[in-house]
Amino acid sequence: MIIRADGDLHVFAVAMRNRFRGITVREGILVRGPAGWAEFSPFLDYDDATCVPWLRAAREAAYDVWPTPVRDAVPVNCTVPAVGPEQAHEVVCRSAGCRTAKVKVAEPGRPESDDLARVEAVRDALGPDGRIRVDANGGWDVDTATRMITWLDKAAGGLEYAEQPCASVEELAQVRRRVDVPIAADESIRQAADPYRVVRHEAADIAVLKVQPLGGVLSALRIAEQIGLPVVVSSALETSIGIAGGVALAAALPELPYACGLATVSMLTADVVAHPLVPVDGALPVVRPEPDPARLAAVAADEATRQRWLERLDRVEGLA
Ligand SMILES: [Mg+2]
Repeated sequence: MIIRADGDLHVFAVAMRNRFRGITVREGILVRGPAGWAEFSPFLDYDDATCVPWLRAAREAAYDVWPTPVRDAVPVNCTVPAVGPEQAHEVVCRSAGCRTAKVKVAEPGRPESDDLARVEAVRDALGPDGRIRVDANGGWDVDTATRMITWLDKAAGGLEYAEQPCASVEELAQVRRRVDVPIAADESIRQAADPYRVVRHEAADIAVLKVQPLGGVLSALRIAEQIGLPVVVSSALETSIGIAGGVALAAALPELPYACGLATVSMLTADVVAHPLVPVDGALPVVRPEPDPARLAAVAADEATRQRWLERLDRVEGLA
């Protein structure tokens, strides 16, 4: 099953506002199918096999029907990259009413005091009633995680949760027994052969689900139903086309107790739709926007990048 059949396929390359997860440019493919526009944008460091669920998600968006929404708005958090305190403060102040901030911590090669200063700046910008969560992307060992979570929880006047403090499920379980702050699993679900291991090991209080790496809206919804934990839907730094999949998932969940990590379009310097999926009063509308031809043309990748993506797509389609 091929997603490029009808030929309306665009390879895009958009600069990021700030370096994030080690990247400065976001690339991918947008393609129109009978059911709607789809995005295929696995990160460049992923091997072809890892991209298979991302392709499945794109096929679903292009050909299948997403579930019926049970809400018409999705509350979202703002995301504070591993920047200095002044910039962190600014991100929160410019976040269009988001009352929850996710703060990146444990950036390799940076001192722990940077994390503290960033969290303090975010608290200052949010005020006492905003919620702060931190995401370490598996960057700590058990002892460091225990110490840092306790320290940052105190500095923040309470953390909502700590996301993926360590890399392995076993480590998450150990940290979870040592700290009072709830633990969220992200990489331990989306990069795992078995997403339910976190539950069997009592390693997490919250499940972070992302549509592309989990193979689409319906497959992520199935995991949400079976995992038995509150779910936070997050993005994979997509354009508004890909974000619409996350919005569809969040809108279909019976319960949505936490703000979702879907307000990431503003981390890109451009988008492909006329009305990007950016928050208004801290929430995204449940809509599925279509690309605007001029904006699509403005982010077209150069020929070498386009060829590289078409070859990647061919290889992944060969595996799927
Ligand atoms: Mg994460």
